[in-house]
Order: sequence, then structure tokens, then C-alpha cells
Amino acid sequence: MKTLKIEDLHVQIDGKEILKGVNLTVNTGEIHAIMGPNGTGKSTLSQTIMGHPAYQITQGTIKLDGQDLSEMSVDERARAGLFLAMQYPAEIQGITNFEFMRSAVNARRADDDQVDVMTFMKELEEKRNFLSMNAEMASRYLNEGFSGGEKKRNEILQMLMIKPAIAILDEIDSGLDIDALKVVSKGVNSMRSADFATLMITHYQRLLDYIVPDYVHVMMGGKIVKTGGPDLAERLEGEGYAALRDELGLDI
Ligand code: ADP
Ligand code: MG
Ligand code: MG
Repeated sequence: MKTLKIEDLHVQIDGKEILKGVNLTVNTGEIHAIMGPNGTGKSTLSQTIMGHPAYQITQGTIKLDGQDLSEMSVDERARAGLFLAMQYPAEIQGITNFEFMRSAVNARRADDDQVDVMTFMKELEEKRNFLSMNAEMASRYLNEGFSGGEKKRNEILQMLMIKPAIAILDEIDSGLDIDALKVVSKGVNSMRSADFATLMITHYQRLLDYIVPDYVHVMMGGKIVKTGGPDLAERLEGEGYAALRDELGLDI
């Protein structure tokens, strides 16, 4: 089992405090969802976990199995089993999807256990078909010219190939039509196991109809202000965030 433990996390960007004391523990085997209004720090949390240099930790810790992530490079975090599907996946020229995924998969394997090209291609084809993606995507540059929905699907394909222990999916549902949402959900659900956890960030309850979480957290004003089960997401869909803000007596 792997455990990601976030304690009293405070994060600044350009000297402005965005996260103001986040506490969260994610164990493999669990599905967590974080909901919350725009601008509340959800993407900041995901970027900070993965080690984006713009996000400065001023207080608190993020630990993976007891090891402080601030002592690890982005690469080391990925090799340790963390994965981030960004809200806005980058387009990178000069490296194909195929090359990118193969090097990411091999980075997580020992030097004497690198995956050979044929085995890799076979698995990629299997997973690509599973996600109803066409063959041509593999030879295109990373995300280049992909539509919003194709980028999201491609993030899920990467996740299925890389097989992380803990995947952070930042608005993986944004811009998806219902068919694409079903495909993406199928991909995430296929990863469910005792050796896998996901932290899904979403604005909408709709995603959680397809990927049923164990825990739903609400983030407001840079903190997790409430945790519950799937019923919490349904309540928010009905009442919005204002009712919860009033109930908790929050001034944010
Ligand atoms: P959410 O994902 O919940 O919508 P974000 O984490 O993206 O929220 O943003 C939280 C706040 O931090 C916002 O006020 C946003 O403008 C600010 N912010 C996020 N990233 C940056 C950045 N790279 N530079 C400056 N401000 C940022
Ligand atoms: Mg946002
Ligand atoms: Mg965001």
C-alpha cells in the first residue's frame, strides 16, 4: 500500500497565499474526489503535489510513504508512482505520443527491465482500442492539434500505460461530451484496484455518476472544508456551494 499524506499545506504563488492549510490522506485502493468553486486552489494543489516550481510551500508537508516530496524532483515523484493529468495538457512539438509514453513507462522500470518496442506497441494498441482512439494519434507530436476531448483521452491513455500508484486527474471531465466522458470513466474504472488510488478534481457531480468515489472533499478558500461520501457531491449539485458556505459559517 502507498499513502500520500498532506498535512497543513500552505502554498504561495508570486508571494500570494493560495493554499491555506490543506489536510488530506490518500491510500491506494481509494478513490477521492475534490470539488470546489473556481479559483479555490484545486489545480494549485495538484501542481504542488507533482512539484511545479512556481508553487512554493511555505508551511506543512506532502509525504509519500513517509518521504517528504519536497526533497524529490518531478522525475523522482513520477518514478515513485505519482501521475498528474493536468487541467490544460501541454502540447509538445518534436516528441511523439509514442516516444513520450515509452520513455515514461521505461522510467518507472529498472534498467535491466526496459520494455521492448514490440511489447510496448502491442499494449499501446490494446489500450488505444479500449479508449476508442485512432491509430494515428501515436505518431503525432504530444497533444499537438488534439481537441480538448482528445487531450483528456490521451491523458487517460498515458495513465493506463504508465500504471501509476496514485493518479491526480485535474478536471479530466472538462469539455467532454457524454460519449467521451463514458470512455474516460471506463479507463479510470479499469485501473481500480488495491494498488491504485485516484484524486479526481472536478466541478461537476456528473463525473461521479460514472466513477463512484469513496470520499468527496470540498475545497473553498484554499482549504478542505468538508469531507463526505458521494451524497455530498449530489447535495452540492442541488444546493451549490453557497449553502455549504453558510452552514459552515465560512467567510470566503
Ligand atoms: P482552481 O483550480 O480551484 O480553479 P487554481 O489553483 O487554478 O484554482 O487557482 C487558485 C488561485 O491561484 C487563483 O486566484 C489563480 O488566479 C491563482 N493562480 C494559480 N496559478 C497561478 C500562477 N501560475 N500564477 C499566478 N496566479 C496563479
Ligand atoms: Mg478552475
Ligand atoms: Mg483548476
